Amino acid sequence: MNQFEYTRTTEVAGATKAITKTANTRFLAGGTNLIDLMKMGVVVPDRLIDIKPLPLKDIKAAATGLHIGALTTNTQVAENNDVKTMFPLLAMAINAGASPQLRNMATTGGNLMQRTRCAYFFDITMPCNKRAPGTGCGAIGGYNRMHAILGASDKCIAVNPSDMNVALAALEATIEVTGSKGKRQIRIGEFHRLPGENPELDNTLAKGELITGLNIPKSPFNKNFHYLKVRDRSSYAFALVSAGVALHIEGNVIRDARIAIGGVAHKPWRASNAEAFLKGKQPTEANFEKAGLLAIEGAKAFEHNKFKLKLAPQTIRQALITAAAKK
Ligand code: SF4
Repeated sequence: MNQFEYTRTTEVAGATKAITKTANTRFLAGGTNLIDLMKMGVVVPDRLIDIKPLPLKDIKAAATGLHIGALTTNTQVAENNDVKTMFPLLAMAINAGASPQLRNMATTGGNLMQRTRCAYFFDITMPCNKRAPGTGCGAIGGYNRMHAILGASDKCIAVNPSDMNVALAALEATIEVTGSKGKRQIRIGEFHRLPGENPELDNTLAKGELITGLNIPKSPFNKNFHYLKVRDRSSYAFALVSAGVALHIEGNVIRDARIAIGGVAHKPWRASNAEAFLKGKQPTEANFEKAGLLAIEGAKAFEHNKFKLKLAPQTIRQALITAAAKK
């Protein structure tokens, strides 16, 4: 690992000021992703600013929804009673990710910033437009079993690895950030990017901006919900495909629906067309089957991930069936 300078900060303003002072500086929180990337030489910062002491560890419920501080750990969020009552889909998705040890360290802000697990991105001897722009994409002509079927480009076919992000997309969270130009809110659907011509950019954060928390608006999605993650082993594995779904059912009619998919795109993929199809329909297996197919309209597979074209709609269908059956 290269040498780097390490500092700690106790104020948000101090953190955002410090990051603009030296080029190639990174914020460090739980470190469950960044330290791995540094050990492998994928990220080589000159300076780390440890933001763990910042006062961003609150979880507050209000009549309008829930605020979650950026430095809450994944475990704290998943075990919080307000989260479990108001947004159990979020707790379920977080508990599907990583391991208990990692969830104890990983933070909400860090999970939002989590980088792809594409093996070519982690291997500094291989071409990768995300790690080294302009070098090519090792995965397009290589082994691409874990890769995207939606929203990819000819520069990058990586997927976002987070389970939490899928639930946040379904729940329409808003990310709070602060930087040299002040505070702003970014809707989760506009936070993570598709790769396009610039796969090195994972999200729409401006240089030096710090995530301070997120807000989830109140919704009726705390009864009929489900997070279904299909993976190669039953724990401590990234999703081949996952589905975070929530239904608002009244009198055997679906009044509203949310469907987000993981493991299929560079960002959590919101299936708005499938949601629109379900509104006003009955919660039947036939309608859920159709919603699953609509959700991946326009999907394109690569040599080793064609199975996702069948797996994704079936994962959505099964998640919807399970969600609808909850009493
Ligand atoms: Fe790099 Fe993206 Fe290609 Fe993976 S898919 S090698 S992250 S450019």
